[in-house]
Amino acid sequence: MPKLIDGRAIAQKVYAELQDEIASLKLRGLTPGLAVVLVGDDPASRAYVRAKDKMCRELGLHSVKLELPATTTQEELLARVNELNRDEKIHGILVQSPPPPQIDESAIIRGLDPRKDVDGFHPLNVAKLALDDDTGFVPCTPLGCLRLLRETGITLSGANVVVLGRSMIVGKPMALLLMRKGIDTTVTVVHSRTKNIPEICRRADVIIAAIGRPHFVRTEFVREGATVIDVGINRIEDAGSERGYKLVGDVEFEGASKVAGAITPVPGGVGPMTIAMLMSNTIKACRQISEL
Ligand code: NAP
Repeated sequence: MPKLIDGRAIAQKVYAELQDEIASLKLRGLTPGLAVVLVGDDPASRAYVRAKDKMCRELGLHSVKLELPATTTQEELLARVNELNRDEKIHGILVQSPPPPQIDESAIIRGLDPRKDVDGFHPLNVAKLALDDDTGFVPCTPLGCLRLLRETGITLSGANVVVLGRSMIVGKPMALLLMRKGIDTTVTVVHSRTKNIPEICRRADVIIAAIGRPHFVRTEFVREGATVIDVGINRIEDAGSERGYKLVGDVEFEGASKVAGAITPVPGGVGPMTIAMLMSNTIKACRQISEL
């Protein structure tokens, strides 16, 4: 059996580390503060926002949850973002995606103070990631995947990694992070136009799947002993469940786990790490804004 990479346990380890840092900031009279802005009432977004708010409170961070109606205009949202930019108690701001159609998401992201952009989506932070500048913010999901890989103990330097997906939230920042000096993996990125994906994946020491296609990565994609990180969260019909659906990843776990050396489950793999890295980025923002 492969080693199961337990994202929940590793997230708890991250929280234990963060608690020390929070305590030392509090000794200096500083409480890191995170504001999460939700526009509209998408149930999944609402659940994410609740989870982030809950974790902030558990860690003793200052948490602001701003719930705005689905009819909020671009100007209104920008005005609220500006207030948060100026609020000294707030060090991190996150606008929950996706916003309603009247909102231009990229304009909102550009309106964030980049020092408070704990999601790492502002162009300045994207540039800092490409420039290997550690003062920038790396998006939480790729950052969480890297921590999971480090925890497996595999040698990353020189490893062949295949990243499936090239989104600005996961695939692209993941690739930039993994090719950084000091991490030193050799990265191949595949997307919807790539030919021979199974063959490319079979050459990988590490596969990171982030395409939003249930069970796409199957046994024949995975080389014996490879590490598999499944970012995907997909709903598929499940008549047997009370909700009528279940959540599955981009990896066909049963098959892939027969050959992988280590693998993340869904749920309980990457998901918990994304929130842990959001907390970590918020504390980093507090330190940097306070020039500590
Ligand atoms: P996205 O913006 O829709 O991007 C999907 C990427 O996958 C695109 O680059 C697309 O290629 C590629 N792709 C789609 N179908 C493909 C196929 N058949 N073969 C190869 N490549 C294909 O998705 P995302 O936001 O990155 O999210 C990906 C998955 O991760 C989703 O299931 C999402 O729910 C999950 N997710 C999880 C977390 C977490 O915390 N665990 C966080 C974020 C996202 P093109 O560029 O060519 O279109």
